[in-house]
Amino acid sequence: MRVYDLHNLDFSTHNIRTVLFFVQIMSIQNPTLSSASTDSTNRTRPAGIPITSFYLPRLTFGVGDRFGCEGAAQLKAFQDLTQQGVFVHPVWNKSEREHTTIGTEVSSVRSEADTAIQECAWNKPYFVDADHIKGEIVDKYLPHSDFFTLDVADDLGIHTNEEDAAKYLSSINLQAGAIRLDENHELNLSEEQLMDIAKRFIPAIRKVSELYQRIKSFKKEAPFITEVSMDEVDSPQTPEELLFILAALSHEGVPADTIAPRFPGRFNKGVEYVGDVSVFEKSFEAMVKVISYASFAYSLPAHLKLSIHSGSDKFAIYPVIRSVIRRNNTGIHIKTAGTTWLEECIGLGEAGENEWLQSVYTRALDRWDELCTPYASVIDIDRSKLPSLEASSSYSGGQWARILRHEQSCNEYNLNMRQLFHVSYKIAAEDGEGFKNLLLKHRSCIEKNVHENIYSRHLLPLFGPTSLG
Ligand SMILES: [Zn+2]
Repeated sequence: MRVYDLHNLDFSTHNIRTVLFFVQIMSIQNPTLSSASTDSTNRTRPAGIPITSFYLPRLTFGVGDRFGCEGAAQLKAFQDLTQQGVFVHPVWNKSEREHTTIGTEVSSVRSEADTAIQECAWNKPYFVDADHIKGEIVDKYLPHSDFFTLDVADDLGIHTNEEDAAKYLSSINLQAGAIRLDENHELNLSEEQLMDIAKRFIPAIRKVSELYQRIKSFKKEAPFITEVSMDEVDSPQTPEELLFILAALSHEGVPADTIAPRFPGRFNKGVEYVGDVSVFEKSFEAMVKVISYASFAYSLPAHLKLSIHSGSDKFAIYPVIRSVIRRNNTGIHIKTAGTTWLEECIGLGEAGENEWLQSVYTRALDRWDELCTPYASVIDIDRSKLPSLEASSSYSGGQWARILRHEQSCNEYNLNMRQLFHVSYKIAAEDGEGFKNLLLKHRSCIEKNVHENIYSRHLLPLFGPTSLG
């Protein structure tokens, strides 16, 4: 098997061989990339394409690891899936909020990923994601990341005026009227609707463009992945809005590889999806159709795909994601949160560290506001459903593990405790060496849980062969 490792490259120099190799892979998997061509509705893809960066594999799965110790255990889950003939590529993501809370260096994620790759002899693409990056903080991520999630949620609250929007609309390749996405799907955009969308989205698009150019000017010819995220807002976006965004990104020359819209429903951290699954399915499939149309019509990378920022553990929508991507023969990026930290807690529970877990719980209750406020929009903890400190003081390690593990069929599972622990990692960080020593002492128990969680609860249901998934 051919071995290639992007991350041993010096990003200050252009490695033409690697880029050619990736272009070669792209041409094999995406014949539409190589020249002007037609799609299933006989439209001609514009010549002069592609606006493309480098190959983002069809299936990618983002994992978080707050303390940076579980890279190899995480990666082994992906490796086990390759044994089933399914290739899903890991993306290590860590947000500025996590770095700040723990006090880790941005470079630590790159080190963790590279070390795991070497340890496990992973010879396929992998990525390090600068997650939810904004203008003020992008610079320190530039040398260490090759995947950038450009977050423009804040700019979605800023509107431009009608004159500016009209001028912008006259310069992009999107007019009001019926837009035929494929044989069976059409969008209808009125003049008013298009103007309204343009006014609301142009400032955010300009911000994306600025951020992209800043990264590009640092990376020069070195490849990187561009994700545009608009998920951290209150209301879901519509297929019409996504179409405008993609037309505008193309106009700005931003070769988006993946885009994370806000979907209907609630995506709380580490717990189940809250919402109507059929509403999610309808929205998700409509977005997939827009992506497929826009990548062709606007000469965006042919591998353009949706990204779902799941916040982890949205098991109820996994069957829908699985069937929609199969039905539409498209890719997906699923970005999970730092729930590996919860698997560390579960492993420590199984190893009998109940006293430490009780002490985390005691301190978390004490510092409720400090820990919960930064996550207020993505957690829903019912404090009345948490046990008293007196009751929890008698829990065995095994009980703690069952309370925290996301097994909905287990009657000891407590989603309120799980959410509270999810946001309480600052306490473990403050325990410093003491916590690190616990992680070292109970390595095998923790790694078993980290691996099992990613492999059995996430990768298999989403991507596994039918017989296993
Ligand atoms: Zn997000």
